[in-house]
Amino acid sequence: MTVHKIGIIGLGKITEDQHLPVIAANPAFDLVAVSSQRGIKVDGARTFRAPADMYEAMPELDVVAVCTPPQVRHAIAREALAAGKHVLLEKPPAATISELDDLAAFAAAQGRVLFTTWHSQYNAAVAHARDLLAHHSVKRLAITWKEDVRRWHPGQKWIWTAGGFGVFDPGINALSILTEIMPTPVFVRSAELTFPENCDAPIAASLAFATNGPHDSLTAEFDWRQTGPQTWDIVIETDEGTELRLANGGARLEVNGELDVERKPAEYEDIYHRFAQLLRDNRSLVDSAPLRLVADSFLIGRRLTTEPFHE
Ligand code: NAP
Repeated sequence: MTVHKIGIIGLGKITEDQHLPVIAANPAFDLVAVSSQRGIKVDGARTFRAPADMYEAMPELDVVAVCTPPQVRHAIAREALAAGKHVLLEKPPAATISELDDLAAFAAAQGRVLFTTWHSQYNAAVAHARDLLAHHSVKRLAITWKEDVRRWHPGQKWIWTAGGFGVFDPGINALSILTEIMPTPVFVRSAELTFPENCDAPIAASLAFATNGPHDSLTAEFDWRQTGPQTWDIVIETDEGTELRLANGGARLEVNGELDVERKPAEYEDIYHRFAQLLRDNRSLVDSAPLRLVADSFLIGRRLTTEPFHE
């Protein structure tokens, strides 16, 4: 088995929570370096302040995972590809569609693997919902993604700046499930984005979708102001009257009120297994569909203003 020497760029929350332990447990990867602006140290790996220093000092490094905020992802990923590295991108894979298109073309030209990860797709319940819906049309679908931003994103100032995605940072996870399970393409028909008057990214969004087929209503409600119980649910009704309820961010599926699939989330374990396969096959996996729905929401969305947000 090939063991890939991997470096991580950006040592923030998701790197600490998922990438470090998951890479440590996967024999296909050996974490040899990290690039951290703050100089964060990780046992067994060398720390560099900038990716360019890491590439110069460790030419044996063949893979990087880019775990920074999205606004800087394109420049960092392009630099990595130019240095001959295969690249895993945290979600969202870029700040804009044209940046992502550029990365896909550049990775192909460089003969390197580019992998856009959408962690919420890596759930057994999501895969099963996709299979159940494959031969049906969807009559009704309601996404409810409501969480407390103070609890999940403390101190993350980038998330409130332009290109930081605001409530679409979690919302894009729901959209990545939507694009994965829907049997036909989905379009944003209308959107209302609510911005705190002191922020450049929305705190809430209401979306309505369309498909090419008949349907009653396809909607998404994203809100970062929910205290108490947190909600990451998608309820779907098919043309035949079957009800699917994907709950807990895609970890649990009920069909007509009965539990169908529930598996402890292993999203990042599955992401790194998939990455090892892609590297073995020298094949990129670039999926822009969830990012397109966010971009379309910003393109056609009405802008509403609400009270200032203070952490
Ligand atoms: P975070 O805690 O703010 O960490 C991001 C890290 O990136 C920072 O700690 C910093 O690390 C580095 N960084 C910040 N600004 C940078 C810049 N201008 N240039 C280069 N590096 C910079 O954010 P996070 O929650 O880990 O999220 C990072 C990405 O992962 C986001 O796209 C997010 O959507 C995604 N994600 C997050 C979660 C989650 O639960 N938090 C879950 C799934 C996906 P250094 O100081 O070490 O360089």
